[in-house]
Amino acid sequence: MARITGPVCRLCRRDGLKLFLKGTRCDTPKCAIERRDTAPGMHQFRRGKQTDYATHLREKQKVKHYYGVLERQFRGYYDRAARSKGNTGSTLMTLLERRLDNIVHRLGFGSSRAQARQLVAHGHVTVNGRRVDVPSYLVRVGDVIRVKNRAKSLQFVQSNLSENRRELPDFLSLIEGGIPEGRVMRLPEAEDISIPVQTQLIIELCSK
Ligand code: SF4
Repeated sequence: MARITGPVCRLCRRDGLKLFLKGTRCDTPKCAIERRDTAPGMHQFRRGKQTDYATHLREKQKVKHYYGVLERQFRGYYDRAARSKGNTGSTLMTLLERRLDNIVHRLGFGSSRAQARQLVAHGHVTVNGRRVDVPSYLVRVGDVIRVKNRAKSLQFVQSNLSENRRELPDFLSLIEGGIPEGRVMRLPEAEDISIPVQTQLIIELCSK
C-alpha cells in the first residue's frame, strides 16, 4: 500500500495552499504556510510565471497530495471517471471523496487523512458491521461507518472528535454518543469538495 512519505508541509508550500496534511497543527500558528508562504527550496523567492504545462500539473498534484494518492492510483480514478457517463471532472472528484480514509477523516475520527488511513488500515473501523482495512474502499449511499467496539479504538476516536471540530459535510451524518457512527446519506457532489480545484485543467492534462 504505497503512500506519500517525506515532509508534507513542503507540498502545501509548493502548491501555495493549505492542504491540511498534519491534523491539528494545520490550525495553529505553527503551520508552515502561515509562517512563510513561499515555495520550498533554495530559490523560494523566485516563484515566477508558470508555464501552461506547470499550471495543469500543479492542479493535478494538489488533488493527489490532498487525498494522499500516488500517480498510478490517481490514473485509475481518472480512467474510471473517463469511462463513466456524465462530467469526467465531477466523477473524478466524487470517486476521490468516496474513499473510506477520506470519509473517516471528514467524520472527524482521524485528525488528518494520513491518520484516518492508518485507522482504517489497522482495522479500527467497520463498514456495515464488517471490518474493512482498505483505505481506498469506495463507500456507497447508506453505508454505516462505525468505530470498532474496542477500548483502544474508541478512546482514540473520541479524543479526536472532541479535539478536532470540523464542519460535517451535508452528505454525511454522525452519531457521537457511545460508539461513534457515521452514515453516507448521498454521494458527494461538487459543492462537498473542500479544496478549490479546477478539474478542467486536470482533465486536459490526463487526456493527452
Ligand atoms: Fe500544510 Fe498543515 Fe503543514 Fe500547514 S501545517 S503547511 S496546512 S501540512
